[in-house]
Amino acid sequence: MSAGEDDIKHARFDQARAADVIRNIRPDDPLALFRPDTLARTAQTFRRGFPGHVSYAVKANPAPEILKELASVGVTTFDVASVAEMRAARLADPAARLHYHNPIRSLSEIAEAKSLGIASWSVDRLSELNKLGPVPAGTEIAVRLSLKRGGGAYDFGSKFGASPNEATELLRTVAKRGLTPAMTFHPGTQCTDPSSWADYIAACAGIAQAAGVRLASLNVGGGFPASGDLVPSQLHVIFAAIERAVATHFPADPPHIWCEPGRAMVADSVWLLLRVKARSGQTLYLNDGLYGALGEWRDMPVPERQVALTPTGQPVTGSDVAFTIFGPTCDSLDRVPGVWDLPEDTNEGDYILLTGAGAYSLALVTGFNGYGTRDFATLQSFRDRAGQHPHGG
Ligand SMILES: *Cc1c(COP(=O)(O)O)cnc(C)c1O
Repeated sequence: MSAGEDDIKHARFDQARAADVIRNIRPDDPLALFRPDTLARTAQTFRRGFPGHVSYAVKANPAPEILKELASVGVTTFDVASVAEMRAARLADPAARLHYHNPIRSLSEIAEAKSLGIASWSVDRLSELNKLGPVPAGTEIAVRLSLKRGGGAYDFGSKFGASPNEATELLRTVAKRGLTPAMTFHPGTQCTDPSSWADYIAACAGIAQAAGVRLASLNVGGGFPASGDLVPSQLHVIFAAIERAVATHFPADPPHIWCEPGRAMVADSVWLLLRVKARSGQTLYLNDGLYGALGEWRDMPVPERQVALTPTGQPVTGSDVAFTIFGPTCDSLDRVPGVWDLPEDTNEGDYILLTGAGAYSLALVTGFNGYGTRDFATLQSFRDRAGQHPHGG
């Protein structure tokens, strides 16, 4: 599961296709380039490597093309947080299995969700469990646990999640009411520390035991790190840690294990093709920024993943120097933190190809000042070109 020959061949192939797009279209507006083969490969990495079932957290990228491709390669369970996400998942796959894992819901959202059919509801407090009202006996309720623990690039535990004591009590209540007890957690996004999952799994086992309840399923959340397709992935190390922790803490009769990656599933499957609108000194003004597809870059560390290309699709020459990057809006906040190292000859009219930009990018475009990446193009498939499926079937 390292960045193998296939990944590198795919990335080269797609870089050549991106250069074709520049030559043929010269897009002046920002353009998202969808890489369906890469998405299919990542889905296979999860489906073959993760020791359990795989669902996809729709919020990371709800584009219909993404949801359809996932469904077509067998990811047919979706972690949804809103009615709109439920509908998007069902549009991609009318039989999609829905996990409604936003623990705060309005009454009308609950009614809509019931009419659509929910396979699992997450809950982190009694009031929200009660708010669900009558549900069929045996409905799966996943108690969401939060341990005060770091590990992700930022923390998801400060908003949602019951403490271990609250979770024990809730789990008992779920079982007493004839519902199917399950647990879930989220270690924090872009989490690179496998022990985060192991600690949570140990805690869930202890809580289930204290509550005197057998867990039907345990959902270990998302949080898996995206690495870029030229860098060896850490996913197999995390999968192995999860498998070991489940074997250790649930030695007999283990629950069904689920994961719900968002970021790691889609990050590499979309590249952004941005254009330099102007250069002044060491500052570049791009055609998208923090109010658009780079919204997350304000809060997240920015990996080295930008390539400068000329309007003929050739790499820009010159040794790398540090540039300050502004987006297109008239707000001075619209500046990417830090600097980007780009070739010193980068100039107005050139393109910046941002790889690994599929997660929390298009989903965050605001449209402020009339800007933001809206155009979405699918890169010609490597599968079609090669005349065969890259996985051999
Ligand atoms: C956002 C979210 C995910 C996906 O998280 P990533 O860090 O993108 O993998 C999974 N589960 C829940 C409940 C979430 O809110």
